[in-house]
Amino acid sequence: MQPIIQPIDTAQRLEVTERTHQFIRRAENIYGERFDLIPVRFNLTGTAAGMYRVQNDRPEFRYNPHLFAKYFAENLSETVPHEVSHYIVHTMYGTKARPHGPEWKQVMRDFGAKPVRTCNFDLSGIPVRRHRRFEYQCGCRMHSVTTRVHNMISTGTRQYFCKSCARELVIA
Ligand SMILES: [Zn+2]
Ligand SMILES: [Zn+2]
Repeated sequence: MQPIIQPIDTAQRLEVTERTHQFIRRAENIYGERFDLIPVRFNLTGTAAGMYRVQNDRPEFRYNPHLFAKYFAENLSETVPHEVSHYIVHTMYGTKARPHGPEWKQVMRDFGAKPVRTCNFDLSGIPVRRHRRFEYQCGCRMHSVTTRVHNMISTGTRQYFCKSCARELVIA
């Protein structure tokens, strides 16, 4: 067992937040639109490095402070533009654009980032939830569901629909 990696410190959190806001400003220059500097939080746990989400009409970025500690440079250059691209696409196209569809890929290219979906990080030393989550998508974003919900969906017992776009959740 490797020791648990310490999460990034205040100075690094500030750097990640600034980089996130820089990409938002860059999108303003590229697309000639205004995008709010939305909150950046470091409360994501588990296997994902970042997430853009809208809860109760409030958009936010969530980053995983342990994965950022282990792969700081990679996350600054890959995860940050990845999540900002989700925000830009969501703001410009609403629920019409799929989470990793052509619009998202175009924003990634405009940012000079590779439009790839996930980084394969080695998770040793990263505290991972005891309760596994599964990534699903609708028409507008990613959803993280519990094992119980995943089992209901995969056995056809129940269907789940996104509250924002009303599309059915399918495994990502
Ligand atoms: Zn994504
Ligand atoms: Zn949706």
